[in-house]
Amino acid sequence: MGRLVIRFGTLHDNVGEPRRNGTLIIEGDKIAAIANDPSAPAPDGTPVLEAACVVPGLINAHAHLEMSGEAQTTTVFLLTTATQRTMTCAENAAKSVRAGVTTIREIGGTENIAMDLRDAIDAGRLPGPKIVAAGQPICMTGGHGWWAGREADGPWDVCKAVREQRRGGADCIKFIATGGVLTKGAVPGIEQLTEEELRAGIAEAHKHGMHCAAHAIGTGGIKNAIRAGIDSIEHGHLIDDEGIGLMVERATYLVPTLSAIMCIVEAGPDAGMPDFVTRKAREILEHAEGNLRKARAAGVKFAGGSDAGTPFNYHDAYWRELELMQSMLGMSAREALYAATASAADLLGVRRGRLQQGEVADLVLLERDIDADPHAFRDPKAVVKAGVIA
Ligand SMILES: [Zn+2]
Repeated sequence: MGRLVIRFGTLHDNVGEPRRNGTLIIEGDKIAAIANDPSAPAPDGTPVLEAACVVPGLINAHAHLEMSGEAQTTTVFLLTTATQRTMTCAENAAKSVRAGVTTIREIGGTENIAMDLRDAIDAGRLPGPKIVAAGQPICMTGGHGWWAGREADGPWDVCKAVREQRRGGADCIKFIATGGVLTKGAVPGIEQLTEEELRAGIAEAHKHGMHCAAHAIGTGGIKNAIRAGIDSIEHGHLIDDEGIGLMVERATYLVPTLSAIMCIVEAGPDAGMPDFVTRKAREILEHAEGNLRKARAAGVKFAGGSDAGTPFNYHDAYWRELELMQSMLGMSAREALYAATASAADLLGVRRGRLQQGEVADLVLLERDIDADPHAFRDPKAVVKAGVIA
């Protein structure tokens, strides 16, 4: 059984107050012990790592492994083969884990690519994070993301689409409840799948133990999805007070994907994206920060997710989302970390995100403590996934 010893200055375990100056001992894929002693003896020949700060492996609850941050997203899907996208998917998975993302929710791809990659990673054949996969996003005919999605109309067809994703090995389901930024002609503020369609699909997914996410930017579509029983609202940028109240009441998670808008707006109109993409992102940004701050103040549960793969939003830059949760939403570094680890784990239904004896040894070693430096998540010193250095 492999062993690894880590001597830390600060350990943010997401269980209690940070631990100072101790030793974490890994045996196999699990944490065997955490000692409050910086020089606890290491068994002979065991590799020893040192880090100023250790945090749980990051969880990106919203990512697209078949997309690599290209300026033209639709083209990626319409002009590539499934084989090419499979290789992209594997390449991005390797990049993610090296950058500290040890679990990722693949929230909308094609064929069964992400599920097959998940199984190959689990079997130790390829490097990458633990993948929780949604399969194809389910959208109305001509809806947002139709170029990758399973178009479905009416409750029974939505139900069938859910069953198809389950047959393909999906762990969860993604529904498109409103228009979106990257699809021509899809208005983010306008509702797409109806509440009745969402309700039917969500009930079917829940029956099989699969959790459900809704792409929802517009005010009405957000509320349709919450009332229909969704587990997480993705984006949620145009949420109103009533929507916030519903989320609190039903304990629905919000995955803010701030990087997605910021990367588009910062790249600007000359970066090669279609004009409608920059225009829609700018319009959304005018409202997103204020609305999401309100949601946070009201007690909505946030889970970290960056929408990695969208224009200029790269798989090795999840640190950006952790920084934006601090600068735009006013979270402390510890709160942003909690959203991007323990909270995301709870949403995904995986036992990750907390560092305690007996838990899976997914962790990130940093050069500086996150309490002292909001940029500490950039350039991790080392990443350990299931007890092995990635
Ligand atoms: Zn997305």
